[in-house]
Amino acid sequence: MGDIQLQNTLTGRKESFTTLHPGEVRMYTCGPTVYDFAHIGNFRTFVFQDLLRRFLKSEGYRVVQVMNLTDVDDRIIANAAAAGIGIGEYTEKYALAFLEDCRTLNLEPAEQIVRATDHIDDMVALIRRLSEKSFTYPSDGSIYYRISKFPDYGKLSKIDLSGIQAGARVEVDRYEKADARDFALWKSPKPGEHFWETPIGPGRPGWHIECSAMAMKYLGETLDIHTGGVDLTFPHHENEIAQSEAATGKPFARFWLHAEHLIVEGEKMSKSLGNFFTLRDLFAKGYKPSAIRYLLASVPYRSQLNFTMAGLQQAASSVERLRNFVTRLKTERFGAGQSEAIADRLHQAEEEFRAGLADDLNTAQAFAAIFDLVRDVNTAIDRGEFRQGDVAATLAAMESFGSILAVLKDDDAQKLAALGFGSSEAPLTDVEIEQLVADRQAARKRRDFAAADRIRLQLADRGIILEDTRDGGVRWKRK
Ligand SMILES: [Zn+2]
Repeated sequence: MGDIQLQNTLTGRKESFTTLHPGEVRMYTCGPTVYDFAHIGNFRTFVFQDLLRRFLKSEGYRVVQVMNLTDVDDRIIANAAAAGIGIGEYTEKYALAFLEDCRTLNLEPAEQIVRATDHIDDMVALIRRLSEKSFTYPSDGSIYYRISKFPDYGKLSKIDLSGIQAGARVEVDRYEKADARDFALWKSPKPGEHFWETPIGPGRPGWHIECSAMAMKYLGETLDIHTGGVDLTFPHHENEIAQSEAATGKPFARFWLHAEHLIVEGEKMSKSLGNFFTLRDLFAKGYKPSAIRYLLASVPYRSQLNFTMAGLQQAASSVERLRNFVTRLKTERFGAGQSEAIADRLHQAEEEFRAGLADDLNTAQAFAAIFDLVRDVNTAIDRGEFRQGDVAATLAAMESFGSILAVLKDDDAQKLAALGFGSSEAPLTDVEIEQLVADRQAARKRRDFAAADRIRLQLADRGIILEDTRDGGVRWKRK
């Protein structure tokens, strides 16, 4: 395991990453609030977390990641009530859609995906622990956290607390820094609202206590990494620290990593501007999962990402370039032997790729290393300087980049079809395609060019593109 530098929001510095338990990374990720489909801004953060865990695994760490699904909060209760259904019924659809979206973007599932409503007892226990230490007080059946009792309050978001009135309270789950006040750990039920009957009274948990309780239950009282979108830094993560550290007296998370905002075509994403996209909105427009993943991954997570349709097109052609390169290596025949220059070049690319990711997950630098390599190897092939004996090592290098990038497998069409997008016909299987390609080759051999063209068009209709190779063979790919 080499040195990995990570920008820690808590200290405001880049630091060498270490783990509390040798070789094991315990990481908590704030998952979505399942009150609607997650949007591409949410997925920017989830793709960053996926790159992080894939990179840590490639460095030899065992990763234990916990992600929560917030399936009870102010908005869920309001929306479920408006729809006239229970919160469980309301959130199930969005929870399943979220997991499906994650699979479509090749996000590795967290080791534990946990729902808030399955952990009410753990939250109640944590609130009682805080009450025993006098960090709480009741008010109208709700229970509030007393921030004046926690001198470290504000250390993550660097908030200035000087103007804050002791005892002032905020009831909602989401609020601005200017509204920093004592926040609700437990909310008394309003008429008609969903609530739980518990030893601390009837009610429901505040949003912040969910994450503290679930993170510590599965990962211990001190985590290695806590991640989330930058908008969660305050109040959510600040409040998680206040709750957890007041209860345990130990540091809650050692590294806090926050992904920056995503904007669309230079503007803040909003439904009123018509630039608000879920993944499904983009699939319906014909964009591929691999291109979306690539675009979201390509900008380093600490930088703002300007998501544009032109950028998405470019991302699609970047993915194509990589896939075509792999196809070329697998289908062309090269001169016998092995080239030392290619071996050196591969080694250099692997080092540059790793160095980019080890520098606070600088994906721009890491991805550039791959494209520089592809360009150089293509040039070497064109010049006849690439040998058959170089193929295996080059493919192995691409596979190792691909294990983190996760866009090389050409399965967009199948994924879209599974979600009900794209062609209404089932996609052709590899075997069916190979058969049609063989039929076309046979037609050409007997100089029946009309039949050969018919098959080519038939394949094109089903999204399969043929490319004739220099050695008289043919290779195919899915559009
Ligand atoms: Zn959280």
